[in-house]
Amino acid sequence: MFNFDHPKLAALAETEGYSDIVDFMEDCALDSLVPAICMAPGCDYTAELEPDQRTGFCELCGRPSMKSGLVIAGLI
Ligand SMILES: [Zn+2]
Repeated sequence: MFNFDHPKLAALAETEGYSDIVDFMEDCALDSLVPAICMAPGCDYTAELEPDQRTGFCELCGRPSMKSGLVIAGLI
C-alpha cells in the first residue's frame, strides 16, 4: 500500500527541494541511489542510499534507522 502521507517522506521531499511527493517519487524511482531519511524520532538526517534500504546506519544518531524514500512510500 502506498503511503505518500508519511511525515518523514514529506520532510525528505522538502529537503530534496520538492513540494510535491509524487514528483519526488517519479524522479528518484529509477535511480541507483535515492534519498533516504532517518526514521528515529527527532532525527531527520538524510543521505543517498540504495532504493531498498530499510536499516541503513544513521551517521547522526548512530541507529540503523535510515530508510529510503521508496521504502517509506511503500513502492518497494
Ligand atoms: Zn538518525
